[in-house]
Amino acid sequence: TDWTPEHHEAIIIGGGQAGLATAYYLLRSGVDTLVLDNQPNPGGGWLHVWPSLRLFSTAEFSNLPGWPMPPYDGFPPACHVVDYLAAYERRYRIPVQRPVTVNEVIYEKGTYHVWAGTKSWTTENVVAATGTWSAPFVPSHPGTFAGTQWHSANYPGTTPFRSTTVAVVGGANSGAQIAAELTSVAEVTWYTRQPPRWMPDEVDGRVLFRRNRLRALALQRGEPDPGTDSALGDIVVLPEVRRARDTGRLQATPMFTSLDEIDADHLIWCTGFRSAIGPIRRLLDHGRPKHPGLHVVGYGDWTGPGAATITGVGPYAKQAARRIAASVGRTVK
Ligand code: FAD
Repeated sequence: TDWTPEHHEAIIIGGGQAGLATAYYLLRSGVDTLVLDNQPNPGGGWLHVWPSLRLFSTAEFSNLPGWPMPPYDGFPPACHVVDYLAAYERRYRIPVQRPVTVNEVIYEKGTYHVWAGTKSWTTENVVAATGTWSAPFVPSHPGTFAGTQWHSANYPGTTPFRSTTVAVVGGANSGAQIAAELTSVAEVTWYTRQPPRWMPDEVDGRVLFRRNRLRALALQRGEPDPGTDSALGDIVVLPEVRRARDTGRLQATPMFTSLDEIDADHLIWCTGFRSAIGPIRRLLDHGRPKHPGLHVVGYGDWTGPGAATITGVGPYAKQAARRIAASVGRTVK
């Protein structure tokens, strides 16, 4: 029997925005590329956000390379992003196989073996673009909590929380948004480690994108990182958040020290995510690829400022594609 694994010049693990943007540049330069994604449908992490989630910037500031996000009146909901990613994939005929869960990548003498169960592929170039949604982070605390625990990664909207008491943990955007919407149906205690840092009402996520862009450019020039911190704060005051805050419904409570202190039916952790790098973990050393031909795109600050945003991922996708194209004798246009 012929069991030689299928070979491609580049294999991208993850078919969210980061994977698609990288595929866009690779395909444009004629690199034979395959994308493996474990979701049943296009959309990446955006398939899993809570029902009321909206982008914190308008459509014209949420563009992938090549083809801008279709217009939307106001802040687009996640389904608008999902539709955009699905259309982007079709438009550029990006070859994505679904659902395929890559469980391990092994490096051997210049070749990567990409394994999904009993199936495998070979390639000289792997792009990890697996995002963070599948790796929700919960900090450890002493004590026990008797109620039901959730994470913003699986928060289903307000229905299960009606007329209950809810503790929401986390002082960033997801905590503020989820706590704000729950205040209209439940009794909410919003725990934050420090007082919430609201951005001015008139600015939206665009200022974060601009800040990221300035950081990326400074690093590129070899200058010191100006940092993520800003006098502007970090919670984008979306309309529902603003209403809840200004009517006094949304107020922060200092962080508990033990879970025993929480008296609530539900506890929702809005404490962020880690990178879902399971399949390539052993090929990284302090976040850096150990061998040539492995690239990480998306994720967040350890790969580059703004790399985890729709509009920010483009330059990193291009950089990875450029290196891969050069290694197989082509150039990225
Ligand atoms: P993902 O979208 O997660 O895509 C990765 C894909 O890889 C997924 O389909 C995943 O299932 C798959 N995968 C994972 N592991 C494997 C594996 N082993 N094998 C095969 N496939 C695998 N950004 C903005 O620009 N604007 C916003 O308004 C905004 N709002 C956000 C709100 C929240 C609450 C959060 C958490 C993030 C937000 N972001 C926003 C940030 C960012 O745009 C998203 O997190 C985005 O989904 C990241 O895209 P990605 O392609 O890097 O990862």
